[in-house]
Amino acid sequence: MATEPREHLVDWLRDAYAMEKQALEICERQAKRLDTYPELQQRIAQHAEETKDQIRQLDRCFEILGEESSMLKDAAGSLMGNVQALSGMFFSDEVVKGSMASYVFENMEIASYTILVAAADANNQPEIASICQGILKQEEDMAYWLRENIPSTVEKFLHLDMTDQRARA
Ligand code: MG
Ligand code: FE
Repeated sequence: MATEPREHLVDWLRDAYAMEKQALEICERQAKRLDTYPELQQRIAQHAEETKDQIRQLDRCFEILGEESSMLKDAAGSLMGNVQALSGMFFSDEVVKGSMASYVFENMEIASYTILVAAADANNQPEIASICQGILKQEEDMAYWLRENIPSTVEKFLHLDMTDQRARA
């Protein structure tokens, strides 16, 4: 059974929408718990704001296509976010595990928007392509920042944990 390129574009936009809902929950929860790591906290809070804007921009993509974002995937995404944030609380090295998870997540977002730009181009949807290009840039900036800052986060964690000074954020 053949599938029109447009259907794939809509489907992948819905995946991205669910992913961003999950990203927002993870960012907001992490930001609340990172008082010991103020720079990381600040960058994650900033990315939470960017993520809210990305969700609005994805809404615009659905509007252009005359489609709805899927509520089903939406709910699943929120559930995943809760599970992930909860599981993080059982690790004393949460800030390190969280940095790893965030870096992986940003790279998944980079892959998703790279796919969406190509799919939007193939569908002759220049506005959607340009929206996804803009979001892609924000995800790349975030992934780059996280990678650059992982060494200092690990150093700080190891130092605090050795001296028992609330390393756990
Ligand atoms: Mg995002
Ligand atoms: Fe992101």
